[in-house]
Amino acid sequence: MTNPAHIAHYINGAVTHGNSPRTQPVYNPATGAVTGHVSLSNVADVNAAVAAAQKAFPAWADTPPLRRARVMFKFLELINANKDKLAHMITAEHGKVFTDAQGEVSRGIDIVEFATGIPQLLKGDYTEQVSTGIDNWTMRQPLGVVAGITPFNFPVMVPAWMFPVAIAAGNTFVLKPSPIDPTPALFMAELLKQAGLPDGVFNVVQGDKEAVDALLVHPDVKAISFVGSTPIANYIYETGAHHGKRVQALGGAKNHMVVMPDADIDQVVDALIGAAYGSAGERCMAISVAVLVGDVADKVIPKLIERTKTLQVLNGENLAAEMGPIVTDVARQRITGYIDAGVAEGAKLLVDGRHFDGAQAGEGCKNGFWLGGTLFDHVTTDMKIYKEEIFGPVLSCVRVPDFAKAVEIINAHEFGNGVSCFTRDGNVAREFARHIQVGMVGINVPIPVPMAWHGFGGWKKSLFGDMHAYGEEGVRFYTKQKSVMQRWPESIGKGAEFVMPTSK
Ligand code: NAD
Repeated sequence: MTNPAHIAHYINGAVTHGNSPRTQPVYNPATGAVTGHVSLSNVADVNAAVAAAQKAFPAWADTPPLRRARVMFKFLELINANKDKLAHMITAEHGKVFTDAQGEVSRGIDIVEFATGIPQLLKGDYTEQVSTGIDNWTMRQPLGVVAGITPFNFPVMVPAWMFPVAIAAGNTFVLKPSPIDPTPALFMAELLKQAGLPDGVFNVVQGDKEAVDALLVHPDVKAISFVGSTPIANYIYETGAHHGKRVQALGGAKNHMVVMPDADIDQVVDALIGAAYGSAGERCMAISVAVLVGDVADKVIPKLIERTKTLQVLNGENLAAEMGPIVTDVARQRITGYIDAGVAEGAKLLVDGRHFDGAQAGEGCKNGFWLGGTLFDHVTTDMKIYKEEIFGPVLSCVRVPDFAKAVEIINAHEFGNGVSCFTRDGNVAREFARHIQVGMVGINVPIPVPMAWHGFGGWKKSLFGDMHAYGEEGVRFYTKQKSVMQRWPESIGKGAEFVMPTSK
């Protein structure tokens, strides 16, 4: 057993332990062992990171976009070469199975690839001769220092929704990762340095609320991107806006999958099992509610029971694992509390994951943070397990008589992140996509996470702000538009003008 590591910050191109004496333990969720202690920044640490980023900003913003893109190309090579190393880091601190962690890194890499196209993405508009001898064009310029505050559940991919686009666009960046799995962010900082990124352009401050609050009020932080739970997203949005910042704050979710009677039942069962229990349900796009239309429940439920009971719940490093542990003991207790509440409210518990014995998950796993897959039937829309985000391996089945009722309950839910509909009927699919009040829609796709150039974002309480993450919306979020109107001396000579200029 090695000594727990001290996990520090990364400021101005170097690892630093900062000024704060506060730390927090970091666990391997599969074994329950403490593998590290992460520093928790104080205001002075955050100020040091913002100062480094502020100092680096003018030169970086002035660097031609093509040269910034070349740094991203080099980073792309390095992150690809270290993909498995990053994936192992994720599994070690988050617990998700290694192959899923590899998938997470790949989806982060997609955004780095997108960001390498920044010269094209920053191209402005130009109109020649808006009036005689006058041209008008728009350009997009970086904001300055921007900050990212990210959740535990995607310690590589969610930061990568933010910093590649922000940096390629000419901003400098301060990342505040989740203290639950803080190591991958530091490794990405090292890779960026190796790629030739100047010191100060990308900084990492580890920490909790104290660090977040320091970023929210800092006058040199021009924009905040946040991903996490809805109450904190709401707080970030209001506080950041109050301090004059641009804010995009992505919140929690309760994602439904509608199963129509004409759907392919085996496809449906595969989709539900993967989307509900993959990453132990700790995905903001996990399916946590199956909406079973008409008589389809009687065909789907028996197969779901069988598959949930035989889920391979193992240490994520075991390549046979389908589901790993829960991220922390606190999270495990919260999820268990929801299962208790579901039983108390009268939902029918078909598979109970509360008593899963960690010893079955592999050697050394006895004291890990384990739960088995849990399945409820006859869940109704007034129950706590239906209304609230559980963020664990719990699938609730709701039975509805028809398609209209399925759409009605989804549209009435306070969250609107992702949704899916399984059907063979093109018109049902089209109506669903048009009328559902949710930001990301899958038709026979259970987890419709948009590709790098489309942008990610939910509706309702799943997103505060008006710009989605990454894609062209990301480029717009991290830049401000400037309009330039130009006339050269040869075309001037009309004398002072006192009326609104119009095209002549
Ligand atoms: P969280 O809200 O607890 O933490 C997110 C970030 O906020 C972390 O960096 C954390 O340190 C910080 N934070 C926590 N409490 C704070 C406070 N009181 N004041 C200021 N900052 C605080 O979320 P989590 O548990 O890390 O992640 C899971 C949540 O994230 C789920 O609700 C999930 O749905 C959501 N999520 C949403 C998306 C999306 O795209 N909409 C993606 C991933 C995760």
